[in-house]
Amino acid sequence: MDLRITCIPGDGIGPEIVAEAKKVLNKVAEVYGHQMQFTDILMGGASIDACGVPLTDEAIATAKAADAVLMGSIGGNTTTSPWYKLPPNLRPEAGLLKIRKALNLFANLRPAYLYQELSGACPLKEEISSKGFDMLIMRELTGGLYFGERKTVEENGVLKAIDTLTYDENEIRRIAIKGFEVAMKRRKKVTSVDKANVLDSSRLWRKVVEEVAKEYPEVTLEHMLVDNCAMQLVKDPAQFDVILTENMFGDILSDEASMVTGSIGMLSSASLNDTKFGLYEPSHGSAPDIAGMDIANPIATILSASMMLRYSFDMDKEADAIDAAVRQVLQDGFRTGDIMSEGCEKVGCKRMGDLIAERIQ
Ligand code: NAD
Repeated sequence: MDLRITCIPGDGIGPEIVAEAKKVLNKVAEVYGHQMQFTDILMGGASIDACGVPLTDEAIATAKAADAVLMGSIGGNTTTSPWYKLPPNLRPEAGLLKIRKALNLFANLRPAYLYQELSGACPLKEEISSKGFDMLIMRELTGGLYFGERKTVEENGVLKAIDTLTYDENEIRRIAIKGFEVAMKRRKKVTSVDKANVLDSSRLWRKVVEEVAKEYPEVTLEHMLVDNCAMQLVKDPAQFDVILTENMFGDILSDEASMVTGSIGMLSSASLNDTKFGLYEPSHGSAPDIAGMDIANPIATILSASMMLRYSFDMDKEADAIDAAVRQVLQDGFRTGDIMSEGCEKVGCKRMGDLIAERIQ
C-alpha cells in the first residue's frame, strides 16, 4: 500500500518521539512491502515561532490531503514559556483545538493496557492487577456538555451559571458505530456508559446504542451507569473491552483508566472522523522538562502509530507486529527511565526506537 502520513513533531520531546515512531513505521514498510511518505507540518509553539500562529491554513490543508496524521505533542512550560503570555487563541493548544475541528475528529480512542512486565507501576492491589486488563475508551469528543450553550446570569442578586448537555440521535449513532466497529477488531464486547437513571440525554444515548447494536450481533452489549463504571475500573478492570461513552463521562473515565496502568509514557490515543481518517498521538504532553535529553519514552507514540495502521489503514497484521515488538522489548528487560525497575537495562529514546524496530517481523 502507498500511505501518505502527515507528521506533527510539535514541541518539547515531540520531535524525538515522532522520529522513533517513523523509524518503526519505516521498518514495518520494509518488512511488509509498503510505501510510506511522511510530510512534516508545524503546530503549537514551533508554529508560533516560525509563523506567528499555532497552526496555519497551509498546515491544515497538508493534513487534510494525507491519509492520516501522526503527532508528537505540543506546548511548553506553561509558567515560563513566552507562548503562554499570548492571548488564548494564539497559544500552542489553540492549534490542537483548531486541527481537531478542521478534521471533524469526533471519536476519541484511548486504550489502557497493563503490561505484566510493568504491573509494579499499577496502583491497584496485586490480586486485581495480576489478572491484567486491556480496555479501550471510546469517547464522543465534539458534543455534550462541553459544547452546549452556557451562560452566567444574575437573578435577584444571586449569580447563576447554566451549562447545557445536548446530544442528537445522529451524534450518538456515529460514535456508537465507531465503538462497535472497534469492538469487532477486539474482544467483541461494548460497555455503554451513561446516567440513564437521571438524564434524558443518557436515555436517548441508550436507545440509539441499542439500535446500533442490532447491526453487530457478534458484539455483546451491556449498559453501565457512570458512577458504577468509575468504581468498576478500580475494582475489576479486566471485565472491560470497549467502553463507549459521551464527552464528559469519557473525559473523566479515560484519565482514570489510564492512571490505573501507572505508566504515562506507554499510553497511545487516536481521534477519528467518520471516514477512516484519524489523528494519532500519545496521551502524554510535550514534557518540556526532559526535552532534547534523549531520555523520553517513545513507546506511547510508537503504539499510536500502531493504532494508525489498525484503524486508518486496516493493517491489523502490521499493527500486531508493532505491539508484539513493544512487548518483546519489555520482556527482554529494556526500559526508559520513566518505567525503569531493578534488574532492567536503562536505555534512551533513540535506543528504545532501535530495539523496537529491530524486533519487527
Ligand atoms: P506532560 O505529560 O508533558 O509531563 C508530565 C510528566 O510526565 C513530566 O515529568 C514529564 O517529564 C513526564 N513525561 C511525559 N511524557 C513522558 C515520556 N514520553 N517519557 C518520559 N517521561 C514523560 O504534562 P505537563 O508537564 O502537564 O505538560 C507539558 C506541556 O504539554 C504543556 O504545555 C501542556 O499543555 C502540553 N500538553 C500537550 C498535550 C497534547 O499535545 N495533546 C497533552 C497534554 C499536555
